[in-house]
Amino acid sequence: MRTVPVPLSGVRAADQASAAMLRGCWYEIDLDAICHNYRQLRSHLPCHVKVYACLKRNAYGCGAGPVASALAKEGVDGFAVASLLDAIAIRQEGLSQQLLLYPGALPAAAPTIQSLDLTVSVSSIEELEQWRAAITRPRVFIKVDLGFFRAGATPFDAGKLLAAAAGLADVQVEGIYAHMSELPTKQGSDANKQFDRMQAILREASGFGWRPAVVMMTSTEGVLNHPDMDFDAVDPGALFFGLPESDKPTRPVMLRPALKSICSSLVSVKRLDASLGPAPTIFGKNPGILGVIGMGWGDGLPRQIPGGAVGLVRGQRARLLPPAHLEHMRIDLTDVPDARYGDQVVLLGRQGDQSITHEEVAALWGTDIVGLYAQLRDHIPRIYSARQTDKGTHNE
Ligand SMILES: *Cc1c(COP(=O)(O)O)cnc(C)c1O
Repeated sequence: MRTVPVPLSGVRAADQASAAMLRGCWYEIDLDAICHNYRQLRSHLPCHVKVYACLKRNAYGCGAGPVASALAKEGVDGFAVASLLDAIAIRQEGLSQQLLLYPGALPAAAPTIQSLDLTVSVSSIEELEQWRAAITRPRVFIKVDLGFFRAGATPFDAGKLLAAAAGLADVQVEGIYAHMSELPTKQGSDANKQFDRMQAILREASGFGWRPAVVMMTSTEGVLNHPDMDFDAVDPGALFFGLPESDKPTRPVMLRPALKSICSSLVSVKRLDASLGPAPTIFGKNPGILGVIGMGWGDGLPRQIPGGAVGLVRGQRARLLPPAHLEHMRIDLTDVPDARYGDQVVLLGRQGDQSITHEEVAALWGTDIVGLYAQLRDHIPRIYSARQTDKGTHNE
């Protein structure tokens, strides 16, 4: 079987700063904010509750390797990801914490999974058998579905699966978990029903003498609002990046955003004249000075530039002009006449006394803040900033 090659996203943090310079655009990620958010969570959890940081989607766009390293220094107990590539990035940092693969990896990747000492999720006896055939002594977490209607054994099937797994000497059952999540119909009772189902599964397991080492069911929304459902471990993700899902959580954490800025540069500036003919009507108001930004929809910016979208140049807000291109976007520099080729353009974040907030960008892009993070592209270099203070707030 082929081994998985080292992915490009595994570029080390130190190389990212020079990549940012070469590429002319970058994301600035605040590792202190991520560590601050972790400490906020930790301060509200009983000591015995472990934290498995969910760093899926390349740590919500912030870079799985560097984020995992920062959290490991804070004492995080383990990690969880869906993509094997994210798991590789974490292990490449030399981290040996328990690393859970959510459903996503397949037995074809067994050699890599085994060599990286990963724990796989198992939702059915069929999956269990396939992993046993592929890996000697697989490390598994049993996954149950408590009402999210995604992966995981149903509460009815869970008992049989647990009994089967627990009876196999060559399978290391490390725990049982669920993704307690509420589908868009928000009813508080839903969480309690899911909790009851987990309790019933555990009762059934104890009936045949099995007590899992780790029971885990809450992610960001659950850990913030249902302290009674902590069990042995929690696996939030969004929380570390400052993305709380409810406004007034039961556990009153103060979170800071991980993404400090999206920066690009002016790769062209010109004064328009009549020799080009009239400017296209799609621009709306006719620009006197036209700038081009070296970043486009292929770099995670919206395919359609929404009306009202701006960038900051020389501390001023300047209109982005449609249409967007794969790696280029136009900007109206008429009101920033001293703008120069090479100037930095901030698409999210602060420049001078102007700032473009996460909320503003998410609203313009027609998404929420988690959606904004999910649009961060792995090929854009990330610069990691770490301030020493711990006093920052959302809008600094
Ligand atoms: C995404 C995910 C999480 C983390 O969810 P957040 O809402 O980001 O905290 C936890 N468990 C599973 C299985 C997930 O897919």
